[in-house]
Amino acid sequence: MYGAKQLGKNRISFADAVGGADATQDAFSRVKAAFEDAEIALHFQPILDLRAHEIVGFEALARWHHPIKGVLGPEHFIDVITQSSLSLPFGRWLVDQAGRVARRFRDAGHRVMIAINLSQDQIETGAFIEALSATRAKYALDEPFLVAEVLEATQFHDLELAASLLQEARELGAKIALDDFGTGISSITYASQLPLTTIKIDRMATRHVEVRQDRQQFISGIIHMGHAMQRSVLAEGIETQTQLDTLSAMGCDLGQGFHIGNPVDETTMFRRYLSDDTPPEYPLKH
Ligand code: C2E
Ligand code: MG
Ligand code: MG
Ligand code: MG
Repeated sequence: MYGAKQLGKNRISFADAVGGADATQDAFSRVKAAFEDAEIALHFQPILDLRAHEIVGFEALARWHHPIKGVLGPEHFIDVITQSSLSLPFGRWLVDQAGRVARRFRDAGHRVMIAINLSQDQIETGAFIEALSATRAKYALDEPFLVAEVLEATQFHDLELAASLLQEARELGAKIALDDFGTGISSITYASQLPLTTIKIDRMATRHVEVRQDRQQFISGIIHMGHAMQRSVLAEGIETQTQLDTLSAMGCDLGQGFHIGNPVDETTMFRRYLSDDTPPEYPLKH
């Protein structure tokens, strides 16, 4: 057993990959302890409005501050969390962290949004909606502050139920973004059936967009489709000024990537964007 739940049956399990059930149980225990000991923290990457040239939000990305191995990215632990009994407590914690950070920005006069990455069960069980209501009340956030990112590759058990729960989240002021668009297989179905506000184009499509006509045509198609459906379009993985200019000229609404800003820890983010002494390259939206 792997926490309280079994691993998805139609994928290679973590146990197979690392050598048996004992190793899996070990990985689970270590990640659980890390979460309980607050070694897992969020780093934040800025999101730029490509027309207004201001930072309109941050994506929260999980990191494990490992006492021996240093800072570990989500590929080292996020599947262990989202495929075990840690998933729902972690999801509630994510929403709470987003609320706390959004409150601090609002207190400084900035209405930026915080985007979090949600897993299927956090949505399907209703845990996300509950956490959203609780967090709004706890931090007195009656205006929109949260973007829920859902992977395009997510296979909901019941798409209609997922859509209605996400619609409830919209009514509580959340935005819904389809993450890593262009990498899954159910693109058009998802884009039309979920109550999305934003489509995030995966960074594989953004790569070489400045020189590759096929990528430009693909992205241009997504931008037109998104706009026809009243959705904003965000390009991930912007690494150069030329890419940024190309995507802006194509009518892309939002951008994210190392050229705009790396993911940084919370202290660094607040210092960079809220202190007066060193103004960031792009200012924060008011
Ligand atoms: P994602 O949601 O698509 O997040 C964007 C990833 O792209 C991040 O990797 C970010 O560091 C990276 N990135 C951003 N800009 C650039 C760029 O210009 N160039 C390149 N090469 N990469 C860039 P990270 O932080 O390693 O996260 C990987 C994935 O892990 C995320 O992909 C997301 O799917 C997942 N993840 C992270 N945090 C969480 C979480 O709290 N919950 C869940 N369920 N998944 C998470
Ligand atoms: Mg994401
Ligand atoms: Mg993404
Ligand atoms: Mg991605």
